[in-house]
Amino acid sequence: MMNTTDRVALPAFTFDNTYARELEGLYIRWQPAAAPQPRMVLFNAALAAELGLQGLDTAEGATLLAGNRLPEGADPVAQAYSGHQFGGWSPRLGDGRALLLGEVIDTAGRRRDIAFKGSGRTPFSRGGDGKAALGPMLREYLIGEAMHALRIPTTRALAVVATGEPVLREGGPLPGAVLTRVAASHLRVGTFQYAAAQDDLPLLKRLLAYAIQRHDPALAAHDNPALALLQAVAERLARLIAHWMGVGFIHGVMNTDNMTLSGETIDYGPCAFMDRYDPATVFSSIDHHGRYAYANQPTIARWNLARLAESLLPLLHEDPQQAVDAATRVIDDFPLRFEAHWLAVMQAKLGLRADSPAGLAGEPQAAADAALAREFLATLQGQGVDFTLAFRQLADVAETSDATGLRQLFADSAALDAWLPRWQLRLAQSDSPQASAAAMRGVNPWIIPRNQRVEEALTVASQDGDLEPFKRLLALLQQPYVQPADVATLQAYTQPAPAAQSACFQTFCGT
Ligand code: AMP
Ligand code: MG
Repeated sequence: MMNTTDRVALPAFTFDNTYARELEGLYIRWQPAAAPQPRMVLFNAALAAELGLQGLDTAEGATLLAGNRLPEGADPVAQAYSGHQFGGWSPRLGDGRALLLGEVIDTAGRRRDIAFKGSGRTPFSRGGDGKAALGPMLREYLIGEAMHALRIPTTRALAVVATGEPVLREGGPLPGAVLTRVAASHLRVGTFQYAAAQDDLPLLKRLLAYAIQRHDPALAAHDNPALALLQAVAERLARLIAHWMGVGFIHGVMNTDNMTLSGETIDYGPCAFMDRYDPATVFSSIDHHGRYAYANQPTIARWNLARLAESLLPLLHEDPQQAVDAATRVIDDFPLRFEAHWLAVMQAKLGLRADSPAGLAGEPQAAADAALAREFLATLQGQGVDFTLAFRQLADVAETSDATGLRQLFADSAALDAWLPRWQLRLAQSDSPQASAAAMRGVNPWIIPRNQRVEEALTVASQDGDLEPFKRLLALLQQPYVQPADVATLQAYTQPAPAAQSACFQTFCGT
């Protein structure tokens, strides 16, 4: 049943509602559930400033961001989408516990979606309660901010409001919460899959036009806009996944409903950062076959892109065979696109300038650097070496040529010792030792969200209501490249969990 909600005129939001206006057939108008006792737990003042929002960090703001009263101009809708979940087709997923309130134009002129997560049941809820627990919403806030600070495209949380209502989960009742999510859009591969499955060509065309207008307005004049959009999305996904790989991020649930057209990371459910380097790393408790393992992410992104291409087929060409051929070329090119972005990420991490004056020209240099990067990763494997610390230590080696600290991370450093001189030779073509080290420290974080620290902060925050550990961790994660002078006292944040603890660390979906 819908709730009646008051409307309130705050100067805070100036909503537009292009999704609701232009994409009828891809949503159901719906109202958020009321929260008995809204309390602001976290408010993202920096993001609010970016959005040009004021006056929300108040008790009234909490009632607003809990969904008890709707801001003027909001036109909340539950978005419809399909999805392949772990490869299995679900024709009707949709916002089962989320609502899009509308869009705002931020201070840089970008259109951003404002959406609730945890705001109650909708017609898409199936067996779910439509609610969210505080712990997982704090986790989404924290990891989203960490990703943003790591310069990785991401949706972000504007606020987390505790509802004062318990939500029932497997282990018992947990405090409930509503998260306000900000996104370049919530268009997903699954949105196109849903539109395509309706057998309604005008609807699919409207969605295509909307997506282009929203994310790639320059492509509107292209002679094949569907193909142009597919290529643009391929490019954004290739870039996104390359950056995930560069920080050891494992999304954990790369279903097609969790893959945006904007190239932003979305849905921080069972995600985690790899500590000891192992390409087969999986954290999600439900990912039994390693479908979404660290090293499988580019392959899965390509698989998801193929699902987008399939959905676009009727718009790619009127001749079905030519449509398939065009789609296939984009899908087949994806590994090359990914490789180019991955190489750029790895060159930066290793301090190798692609435009080195004394380097090889063009392709040979790229191939040589890619080989050097792969060989470095191979030296890490099976050594219990922490991925993040290894690159940070390597920056020290670039500066001082002393590899003692780096070697200590390895069980056996023989392979590393064979690799280092080759890297140093190549590095010498790039820049001075100091400049190389500075550049490397600018792209290799000294801190990532360590799984054990994240869990501890969330437990203390949601069970004891003590947000201090969370805020301390958040503050550190917001400066991932600027190592503080007292870093030696921060080992609890910089070191991986003991191997035994790390090996059995698991993340959970259905939060
Ligand atoms: P996710 O794994 O969070 O991307 O969600 C997958 C699908 O399950 C989406 O359609 C969600 O809206 C839905 N869903 C997840 N949790 C709940 C919940 N507690 N109540 C209703 N629907 C949910
Ligand atoms: Mg999702």
